[in-house]
Amino acid sequence: MPSTRDYYEVLGVSRTADVEEIKRAYRRLAMKYHPDRNPGDAEAERNFKEAAAAYEVLADEQKRKVYDQFGHEGLRGGGGPAPHDFQRMNVDDIFSMFADIFGDGVASRGRRGPMGVPRGYDLETEVRLTLEEVATGCEKPVEFTRLDVCDTCSGTGAKPGSKPVTCSTCAGHGKVQQTGLGGMFRMVTTCPSCGGRGRVIKEFCTDCRGKGRVPRPRKLSVHIPAGVSDGQAVRVKGEGEPPQPGESPSGDGVRGDLHVVVRVDDHEVFTREGDDLHMELPISFSRAALGASMRIPTIDADRVDVTVPKASQHGDIIRVDGKGLPNLRSGRRGDLVLTVKIEIPKKLSKEQEKLLRQFAESENETVLPESQSFWKRVFGT
Ligand code: ZN
Repeated sequence: MPSTRDYYEVLGVSRTADVEEIKRAYRRLAMKYHPDRNPGDAEAERNFKEAAAAYEVLADEQKRKVYDQFGHEGLRGGGGPAPHDFQRMNVDDIFSMFADIFGDGVASRGRRGPMGVPRGYDLETEVRLTLEEVATGCEKPVEFTRLDVCDTCSGTGAKPGSKPVTCSTCAGHGKVQQTGLGGMFRMVTTCPSCGGRGRVIKEFCTDCRGKGRVPRPRKLSVHIPAGVSDGQAVRVKGEGEPPQPGESPSGDGVRGDLHVVVRVDDHEVFTREGDDLHMELPISFSRAALGASMRIPTIDADRVDVTVPKASQHGDIIRVDGKGLPNLRSGRRGDLVLTVKIEIPKKLSKEQEKLLRQFAESENETVLPESQSFWKRVFGT
């Protein structure tokens, strides 16, 4: 059954999410629900496939347009190629279909590091930061689950005491030749019996069910540099997964990396624009007119004095040098940018009103008469 849940909802992204956000969301879900990580969990497998279906459409500009306009129906009836029926597909095939997003654009299983060494998949996790933490940089604990080599079988997948044996279908080559049309063509494909590994397991290790790897929770403390922005990722080298068991018989592979995606919470007072912080500065009419010195809060939890110049106007900008956020690369701090917001008093004392009326008179401004006497005049009481 094709999924009918909203694709944006499936990936947990907004309808305006860009391609990078969609990729990240899919990568996270694929890692979370990958059946290797959730053995025997049919619900996880269904979620894994549903996420792939959503990703296929939303990551493709053309398909996404059709989906936004006509929904699921539009995709089925449209002129372009029909979307895959992921629920009927094999998990490994789905995973390799989008493999490029799981590790730095290196496609397919059996990918190699720079020295030809097998490399495991990258993982991704999220941390939430306050704006104060962005200003200083911080250490953040992260928890995630990754597949690790099974201790019981040392990653072979075979029951202790037994060993994987040479695959009889391909005689250990990992590839088989197929001929078609009476020998008209020949095709070399991955051996279906051993999946290209050249060896098959007769007796599975009971701890990992022959996978050679088991899901294991891991906790780390990750340094998040000052000045980081929402959506940026900090890469922790070598904290991803080990290579697939078949790829590294000698055990010389390297782990993939962990990408820690930073989410910055909104702040009550400050909004961020690049390295600058912005804040509204509410001031009274008289302070704006006459000028004033004011003590204002900063992201460093201290206070600074700023001078509001005489005759400040609503919307005027006052910059406080070096009280913004540090630049991620240079460490140089941006500014705190204050926008003057003139507030008109909601209530005036008798004395204040009298003075203000005198002021208006001096400006030759006509103002409404005092309310009481006004109504008296209207109704003559
Ligand atoms: Zn095992």
